[in-house]
Amino acid sequence: MSFADLGLSPETLKAVAEVGYTTPTPIQEQAIPWVLMGRDVMGIAQTGTGKTASFTLPMIDILANGRAKARMPRSLIIAPTRELANQAAENFTLYGKYHKLSMALLIGGESFTEQEKALDRGVDVLIATPGRLLDLFDRGRILLRDVKVLVIDEADRMLDMGFIPDVERIVSLLPPLRQTLFFSATMDDQISRLADAFLTNPKEVRV
Ligand code: AMP
Repeated sequence: MSFADLGLSPETLKAVAEVGYTTPTPIQEQAIPWVLMGRDVMGIAQTGTGKTASFTLPMIDILANGRAKARMPRSLIIAPTRELANQAAENFTLYGKYHKLSMALLIGGESFTEQEKALDRGVDVLIATPGRLLDLFDRGRILLRDVKVLVIDEADRMLDMGFIPDVERIVSLLPPLRQTLFFSATMDDQISRLADAFLTNPKEVRV
């Protein structure tokens, strides 16, 4: 199977080819078509499997036809660590180069000023760690009612790091009618209960 078989736009295919990827990884092959169809997805995949591109590539195409509004992101990716958030942001820059999506990276340990400026300009994609996102929300800098796509990356690590109450609060602030993509390296009862709470009729993909 090639990237062209997955339903991605010519612009995204061109960016992927320029990065040098020739074939999709198994998680990409399985997840991308469902994401493009608007389905909720539960992905069981470890870091190193290409899971980040399995959500960033189709999200780029989903978001390509809309316009960013000040303080109202159209999609939200929450990740447990700054490194993971950074990786998702780099993906949008790299694979989204022909779609020119706007993005803000909200991570702890960086100044609020730049992050607030990006929010004020309006972003298509908000990529955040849970604590910083809620800080900015509580300061009144973000409206979450326009979020159409939510990604929860590495849910099992969120659990290990004690972030689940924050994640639950964030999800409660989002419109119930949205697309949700939920990724975890492992699956157990606790993760399965979270997935049940956040996802609607998901397609499960496992590598
Ligand atoms: P991830 O599992 O998202 O952390 O990705 C692991 C690494 O695989 C990253 O360095 C990506 O740049 C790389 N990668 C992602 N998709 C592909 C692909 N289809 N072909 C080759 N490398 C890839």
